[in-house]
Amino acid sequence: MNDNIPKSDEEWKRLLPPEQYHVTREKGTEKPFTEKLLHNKEKGMYVCADCGSELFGSETKFDSGSGWPSFWAPVSGNNVTTRVDTSHGMTREEVLCKNCGAHLGHVFNDGPKPTNLRYCINSISLKFQKEK
Ligand code: FE
Repeated sequence: MNDNIPKSDEEWKRLLPPEQYHVTREKGTEKPFTEKLLHNKEKGMYVCADCGSELFGSETKFDSGSGWPSFWAPVSGNNVTTRVDTSHGMTREEVLCKNCGAHLGHVFNDGPKPTNLRYCINSISLKFQKEK
């Protein structure tokens, strides 16, 4: 994990590709079915695209049909955090990287067993590290 993370919005803006900045720092949403990680079935770890913190293991990934990568649980530990998001006239649980505050997506209660959770995550917020 990279602990030397930018402190200001200006730094992030300089550092990140514009689309990634829009999603992770301005809480944007990528178009569904647009990103390469959606159908990735390789074993490995999904890390934060902004800071490299480990967020989701491939063993919890499933096809939700939503068009965004979906997971039924974050990695054990405390790398993923949530908060209530009331934007766009909805009440949702926003999912964030605890280390750097990157917006990842939202979590819903209609996921598969064993958790019944569906972490609906923008793939531009993630980078995949293949298991070695
Ligand atoms: Fe992060």
